[in-house]
This record gives sequence, C-alpha cells and structure tokens, in this order.
Amino acid sequence: MNKYQYLKKYFGYSSFREGQESVIDSILSEKDTVAIMPTGAGKSLCFQIPALMFPGITLVVSPLISLMKDQVSALLQNGIAAAYINSSLTEFQLGQTLSRFSQGKYKIVYVAPERLVLSSFRRICSQLNISFVCVDEAHCVSQWGKDFRPEYLKIKDFIASLKQRPVLAAVTATATERVRDDIVNLIGLEKPEITVLSFDRKNLFFACREPKNKEDELLKLLNGFSGKSGIVYCSSRKKVDELYFSLSQKGYNVARYHAGMNKDERKKNQELFSNDEKEIIIATNAFGMGIDKSNVSFVIHFNMPGDMESYYQEAGRAGRDGNEASCILLFNKGDVRIQQYFIDNPEESSDLSAKEKELLRENRIEKLCDMIVYAHTKGCLRKYILSYFGEEMKEDCGFCSSCVEKKLEENKKVRSVPAEPESFDSELFDLLKKLRKQISEKKKVPAFVVFTDATLKLMATKKPLTEDEFLAISGVGQRKCQQYAAIFIKEIKKHIKNNG
Ligand code: ADP
Ligand code: MG
Repeated sequence: MNKYQYLKKYFGYSSFREGQESVIDSILSEKDTVAIMPTGAGKSLCFQIPALMFPGITLVVSPLISLMKDQVSALLQNGIAAAYINSSLTEFQLGQTLSRFSQGKYKIVYVAPERLVLSSFRRICSQLNISFVCVDEAHCVSQWGKDFRPEYLKIKDFIASLKQRPVLAAVTATATERVRDDIVNLIGLEKPEITVLSFDRKNLFFACREPKNKEDELLKLLNGFSGKSGIVYCSSRKKVDELYFSLSQKGYNVARYHAGMNKDERKKNQELFSNDEKEIIIATNAFGMGIDKSNVSFVIHFNMPGDMESYYQEAGRAGRDGNEASCILLFNKGDVRIQQYFIDNPEESSDLSAKEKELLRENRIEKLCDMIVYAHTKGCLRKYILSYFGEEMKEDCGFCSSCVEKKLEENKKVRSVPAEPESFDSELFDLLKKLRKQISEKKKVPAFVVFTDATLKLMATKKPLTEDEFLAISGVGQRKCQQYAAIFIKEIKKHIKNNG
C-alpha cells in the first residue's frame, strides 16, 4: 500500500492537505524532519501515516494527557493498534499496557516525556524495534517557547539509549527562529528537512481596540455578530462568570468554560457550543485545546493574553471553515497588570533551578512586551503577527483594523478638501456669483460655462490671491486662469480689505 491508500483506508480522506505530503515523504525517506504548521493544519497525519508504514514501532512524545487520550481513541476508532502511557493510567492498566508494548503489540504509542527517564521504560524500549520517534508540540523543548517543559530535554538522552537510532521528527504550531534552533539542537535532529507552512490566515480580520468601557464595547460587538458563533476569552474565571451571568441575563445564548467548573459541566458546555445550541462561549484559556469547531465566526479577547503565541493560537480558532471571521482584542492598562501578576506569581509545578526560573521570568516579560506592542501598533496587524513568527510580508494586508482605519483616514482627507465648511465665505460667494453674471452676460454664454457653482464655492473658501493659487482651484484650467485670474483675485482682495 502507498501513502494515498493509507490515507483513504485508515483516515477516510482522499487527498492530502498543503504541506502534509512533503513532511510524510521526508520521514518515509528516513530523514530527520521538522514540521512547523499552524494549528488545524493536520500535523498528526504527518507522523501517523509514516508510523503505519514503517516496519517497527513509533513513539509519539506528547505533553498533554488529554491530547494523548483523544488521539489514541481516534486511532483505535480507525482500526490502528495504539496506546498511551502516562500518569493517568491505574497501576493495573499501566502493567497491562507495558506488557503489550513489550510484546510489540502496538504500532503507535503515545508517551509523556516524564516516562522517558525511567529506567524500566528504557529497558523495554531498548529491546524493541523502534523505527520512528515523533515529538509533538516540539516547542515545549525551548525556554523561548511559551510552555517550556524541562522533561522534553531528556528526549535526546532517551534516543541515545535505544539500540538503533530511529528516524526523528518534531512538529509544532508555533516556532520563532530561536525556538526552531532549540528544537533542532536540544532534541538532537540531524540535518533535518524543515517544512514551514505560512502562518497567514487570510480569512481572519484582526482588530485591536482600547475602549473606555469594555463591557459596552463587547455588547456592541456581540450585537454586530448576532446569530453567529464565537468565543469570548477572559483572563480569569471570575471574569468569565461575571460576563456569563450578565450576558445570560440580557438574553444572549451563552455558555461558559473554565477550569474551576467540574468536568461534566465543562464537557456539556463544550458540546452545547460545538453543536451550535449555544452561540457564544465565554471561557478562559483552558478552553480550546483540541476543539475542532469549524464555524467559529469571531474570537473576542476581553483581556489581553500574555504573549503573541497564545493570542494567535486562541484567535486562530476562528474561521477554520475558511469563511471570513474576526479576531478582536480589547485591552487596557489593567490587562498589563494582570499579566504582570501572572509572571510574578508563577505556578510552582516544575523542578526548575532558581537560575532557570529567573531566565523564564525574563522571557515572559519580553513576550509580554511584544504582546503590548501588538495591542498598540498603528501599522498593519497581520504584518506584525507574521513578522513575530519569522515571516516577512511585503505589503500591508488591507484587512485588519489598522489598514482599514488608514484607508478611512485617507478617504476623509480627500473628502475634507471641498468641504472645509468653517472657512467658506458666503458673502464672497455672492460677490463672485455677481461677477460671473456680468461676465456671462458680456460674453453671451451661460453662467456655468464661466465657472460652476462648485468652483466659485472653492474660491470663496480658499480665497486665492495669486495666479498659482487660482490655478490650483478645481475647475480652473490654464485658459480660464489667463482669462479670469486677475479679475477674480481683484474681487477677492477687495472683499478681504473691506472685511478687515
Ligand atoms: P494539528 O495537529 O496540526 O493542529 P490535527 O492533526 O489535529 O491538526 O488535524 C486537524 C483536523 O484536520 C483533524 O480533524 C483531522 O482529521 C483533519 N485532517 C487532517 N488531515 C486531513 C486531510 N488530508 N483531509 C481532511 N481532513 C484532514
Ligand atoms: Mg496537533
């Protein structure tokens, strides 16, 4: 069977998406491979198809228990022998899984990075024919990434402990230049083939606003999006609850989601939103990992996130179906204080040294600054985002709040030239009309042939005093300037003199 047949047989798809084939081909030709593709691009298939096609076993290193569980269930559904090994298994389940694993009964095994340092696990692996190791969410290996996992640093050592070196791949959705270098060096990829898919999401409209009152602004926005599905992200559970209650009371069809709610409630609310029974979901950043709803028309950030990676990932949940969708950031100074607080009070979960903690803190401050700059940027927002992720854009996008504002500003300027109501002098206008009448009678031509009203109005506004200024008036050509400049300027000067 070839890769197309695997795609159809196991996943039911008839064609690859952009980028998938080149990643798969690279892995199948046994080259180390890096795939940097946006969320939703379909990175899992990129390593799952080679995993099926290689003779031996594939290990997938994955940082999140929930993610592993979902992916493995999906594989099992598709008739693929898969399993996961992490701390969520009971002792009995773990024993059973390891036993089957050591007998080579699984084709694809997802493992938590912590597992890779255990000598018992290494012993089993050293006996097995492991063809391929793929590191999912590979940015976790870097301190420059947004969710650094020190356990990812053990991967390299683990690979070295295997009896033969497997093909290595690393996939991620977010990797700045520095993170990319870390992925290659810290995981130990050898001359990797790197596929980078553009991060540009052309159907997303980006906007930043600093409203006086965020609640009012949110209501305005929601009314504009009425009937559409969207996510409102907040930085705290408290804010989620507050907005949820106030919006419900006002009759909006909303659900809420945060880690303070129990599991069943969260699951129910996620489903209500996914099935379009609830239009809007108010959530913390706990909402999103693994949601696969394609018709999200807007993502509003009620609070500013702590870094561009988080922002783009969350905003990027809009418009998966390819339809136009909006990503709007509401921010104020309070948001900076909230994020500063998060940085100063980090979760005490990992075993970092004091020095590592300080470094991490500095990174987070730097990232927060980049986020604040985004919120304030007057230039093209898309350009800013893409350049943050290492992509250069030549022209402004024309489809973000900055670009649209710039266009409006230019239009306004054009319109304001004839308007300028404050300086229009109606008395002068009447005088100029009289003058025009005299001329037209003398020349026996209609008045408008001399000058139109619009042109006279401009004269009564701009009050030209030299030939050049007269010529600059719209409706005055070279010939008319020669004929009339002197006589009209004389009239204007006389009027100015009479009126001081
Ligand atoms: P990522 O890890 O890049 O965020 P996933 O691997 O989770 O994305 O894939 C996102 C969705 O796209 C999944 O529902 C997956 O089944 C679907 N998908 C992936 N490849 C294809 C394809 N070639 N054709 C159709 N759907 C695909
Ligand atoms: Mg993924």
